[in-house]
Amino acid sequence: MKETIQTPYFVIEEPILQRYYDMLEEALCSNWNNYQIGYSFKTNSLPWLVSYLKKRGAFAEVVSDDEYSLARYMGFRDDEIIYNGPYKGEASFRSVLLAGGIVNLDSMQEVRWLSDLAGSFPTKNFRVGIRANFNLEQMCPGETTMGELSGRFGFCYETGKFASALEILRAFPNVSVAGLHLHSSSKSRSVNIFRSIARMACRLKEEFGLDLSYVDLGGGYCGGMEGRPEYPDYFPVIAEELHRCFTPDQTKLIVEPGISMISKCTTFVTSVFDTRDIKGTRYVMTDGSRFNIDPTMIKSSHLFHLQYVPARSDRPILAQQVVSGFSCMEVDRIFLHENQPELIPGDRIIYENVGGYTMSLNPLFIQYFPAVYVKNEDGLQMVRKKWTPEEYVQGSYWEV
Ligand SMILES: *Cc1c(COP(=O)(O)O)cnc(C)c1O
Repeated sequence: MKETIQTPYFVIEEPILQRYYDMLEEALCSNWNNYQIGYSFKTNSLPWLVSYLKKRGAFAEVVSDDEYSLARYMGFRDDEIIYNGPYKGEASFRSVLLAGGIVNLDSMQEVRWLSDLAGSFPTKNFRVGIRANFNLEQMCPGETTMGELSGRFGFCYETGKFASALEILRAFPNVSVAGLHLHSSSKSRSVNIFRSIARMACRLKEEFGLDLSYVDLGGGYCGGMEGRPEYPDYFPVIAEELHRCFTPDQTKLIVEPGISMISKCTTFVTSVFDTRDIKGTRYVMTDGSRFNIDPTMIKSSHLFHLQYVPARSDRPILAQQVVSGFSCMEVDRIFLHENQPELIPGDRIIYENVGGYTMSLNPLFIQYFPAVYVKNEDGLQMVRKKWTPEEYVQGSYWEV
């Protein structure tokens, strides 16, 4: 199917997304056949994607009032929500708890909210989860993002804050601590990280005599990266650890995948629109930006492939080409292309593995949001049109 679509745009390949969803379900099914997938909204909350995962049974894992509202808007019921993070809203916190959805407490403020709620519904039983903050770095030296310092989330085990929160919760007559939340971000996303997280779940259960209906391991898995673990590598190890003190009969395993689910299926298609030589440096200007695919400016390399415009095949090899974005910021340099054929206007650069933390973190800077297409056996289908001033001004007021 030959189509010329105005670049830049994202493409989600539906069969690859389906493959990853199936791979996760299969890995869970065969290792811990009592599970719930909660898709991490912050990683990419494109409506098409969210609805696709919802249809397959995923819950919405949300970390703010706005994400909660989006989940409700997209048709998730309150009992299909996993509510996490330090910045919940009190009204949505209450709604989810009243409906029997999953809330993982992150702060003493939330313990107070729960106390008010439980007080006003004395005949109702509330089941909550509690997020544990623990020294994962000590268990996996050099692998975590928090490093030697501490994580910022949840109740700290080592300082006794976890124990004291638990004590307070246990004093409420109609509240039970039914779940543990152990999400921790790591640089390595290794199997060993998840082994350690599962061990921590066991340690907390034993030390505090918890009776848990769920253990929520959070997100942070790898997916679609050459030489790195995939879902089937994690769950046998996680299950092996959890089996020491849990059984699938009694305890549900909750996972909150984000990037691992959507990275591999997503590409970003850009075109070269100009080249220029300045003081011996060749700049290749493209209509994509680093803000589209690396908005946090942390990537040191990109996976990509090229499509040369067929007209020119006699291309000189250039020692260095600085592939740059369209924006007016100097830092918008995407990668250094070394000892490669000259790139010319019309060539396409297609970035791979760009599904996570790209669309959701894109700024409305200089150019508005690019279009998103889904590719399947029926061809390409637009699931988000490129933003125009019409979308940009919505909700604004001014005098004409
Ligand atoms: C960010 C986050 C996730 C998803 O993380 P990925 O690295 O995208 O898999 C899941 N759970 C919580 C609580 C998070 O903050």
